Amino acid sequence: MDGRETLRDLPSVDRLLRANAALVERHGRAPVTEAARALLAEIRAGASMPPDLGAALAERLAAAERSNLRPLFNLTGTILHTNLGRALLAEAAVEAATAAMREAAALEFDLGTGRRGERDSHLRGLLTELTGAEDATVVNNNAAAVLIALNTLGQGREAIVSRGELIEIGGAFRMPDIMERAGVRLREVGTTNRTHAKDYRAALSPETALILKVHPSNYRIEGFTKEVPGTDLAAIAREAGAPLLNDLGSGTLIDLSRFGLAREPTVREAVAEGADIVTFSGDKLLGGPQAGIIVGRRDLIAAINANPLKRALRLDKIRLAALEATLRLYRDPDRLTGRLPTARAMARPEPEIRALAESLAPRVAACLPDVTVEVTGCASQIGSGALPVETLPSAGLRLSGPAPEKLAAAFRALPRPILGRVAGGALILDLRCLEDEAGFLESLAALP
Ligand SMILES: *Cc1c(COP(=O)(O)O)cnc(C)c1O
Repeated sequence: MDGRETLRDLPSVDRLLRANAALVERHGRAPVTEAARALLAEIRAGASMPPDLGAALAERLAAAERSNLRPLFNLTGTILHTNLGRALLAEAAVEAATAAMREAAALEFDLGTGRRGERDSHLRGLLTELTGAEDATVVNNNAAAVLIALNTLGQGREAIVSRGELIEIGGAFRMPDIMERAGVRLREVGTTNRTHAKDYRAALSPETALILKVHPSNYRIEGFTKEVPGTDLAAIAREAGAPLLNDLGSGTLIDLSRFGLAREPTVREAVAEGADIVTFSGDKLLGGPQAGIIVGRRDLIAAINANPLKRALRLDKIRLAALEATLRLYRDPDRLTGRLPTARAMARPEPEIRALAESLAPRVAACLPDVTVEVTGCASQIGSGALPVETLPSAGLRLSGPAPEKLAAAFRALPRPILGRVAGGALILDLRCLEDEAGFLESLAALP
């Protein structure tokens, strides 16, 4: 059969549809017609003739149905990977979000009085209890929290900030740009590595609206450095009658040394130091949904809530429900690692991960005949700007073969993709975040 005869044998769209009635039943007439048309057009334009047109059509429809947002295995070694959606939610949060999606809820309705209620009232009690702050509110993400706090406290006036804290946090979040958009003039003080209390004092003027302290998040200045402690900064702000806004970034509610990690200032400590407003993310160390949490002085929170931007930046009921359920878990910190996936991943001991690697290695090798599979040590990161120079000892699989980039691409193309990282001529799978071993092996078995 030469190419011309093959083309002459090509069925019409109609005939292809009639021959594949099961596909029409499964996917619907319109998508199958569309896929059949596209497939036939490609073949007429010179694409190779598939051995089985019906199978090619089925594969095309299946691929179109697969969402790019489909679940994947994050074996990159970064627990809170911004590009992979950061924190995985606790079961309690998933259930609360699902219920909020399915059923009506008293989102802005007071069940006690039967009158209109407030959207943020559901979280206020929990957040003040967990942080020691007077009041709290929530917005879309921490970038929004910083934006609305700056705009509310400082529009048309100055915010004093150390040159060592004028950070960029990946993507488009640059502190000087956010300040400009918030309508606040930046008053930089100190130098990149050293800022003293006297630098802040010298910058105070009638134009000063606030003092801003920013957690440097994704980098660390080491060596000859000096920053002004939060308590001293709070004292300077108080003397000047200007509020202190502390953007903690990741913001943890518990002391991370319980996971063997370096200490990070907790939100409670930032509040106790005298910050008037503290902002932090919901989906970084906290382990909840994307959200920006703002806690602090009651009068300032009221002003933030009265800002028209609040309506534009507010949280939807699904995330409010998930955030409330996540925060509730923090009332019992001793059981957090059993309930909160982020805490569980951070606390997972290296010997447990290594044992998993040892048990998986031969089974993975059986799926990959041309690849050498070895157990290897890894260093996991927390990610999302939390403890940037700190790593957690971990273990994983080192897959080496002729083309690690190709192997990585094949893993990404799986119905449930497996993401590792290519380093030193091999594909490395850090197993810290792998909990579903059976699902992982099943996914691997789908490799062509
Ligand atoms: C991550 C971060 C932000 C932005 O938070 P999102 O939740 O990503 O919007 C702002 N400030 C600091 C210091 C951060 O680390």
